[in-house]
Amino acid sequence: MSTPSTYDLVIIGAGPGGYVGAIRASQLGLKTCVVEKDKCGGVCLNWGCIPSKNLIHQAQTFAEIKALEDMGVEVNPDGFDYGIVQKNREASRSD
Ligand SMILES: Cc1cc2nc3c(=O)[nH]c(=O)nc-3n(C[C@H](O)[C@H](O)[C@H](O)COP(=O)(O)OP(=O)(O)OC[C@H]3O[C@@H](n4cnc5c(N)ncnc54)[C@H](O)[C@@H]3O)c2cc1C
Repeated sequence: MSTPSTYDLVIIGAGPGGYVGAIRASQLGLKTCVVEKDKCGGVCLNWGCIPSKNLIHQAQTFAEIKALEDMGVEVNPDGFDYGIVQKNREASRSD
């Protein structure tokens, strides 16, 4: 049986608020515990900021096809697969 640990501070949630607060608290010398019920990184790293920026980047890159066409380069968009776009977004998550 493990010995129960004691902490100076317990933070509920390992989103940007939780993990940044925990890092700062431990820098200040507090024995800190972070409790996360789902995925470390919270909304930002798993569903919000990072995955949405990945989608935006892919959309911007796709839009550059038009610039290529304006330069006379023909691109066949038939291979466009939204499933792969979503797989790329998934791969950008923190886990
Ligand atoms: C689509 C989208 C795009 C975004 N883009 C940006 C951006 O570009 N720039 C920006 O600054 N912000 C952006 N945001 C906002 C950003 O995601 C939030 O401001 C940020 O995630 C808030 O962090 P937080 O730690 O307060 O909460 P959250 O990220 O919500 O984290 C809370 C954590 O607590 C956990 N939790 C909740 N209850 C419990 C419990 N009882 N026990 C254990 N764990 C628990 C959750 O599972 C979660 O991991 C975006 C949000 C979305 C939805």
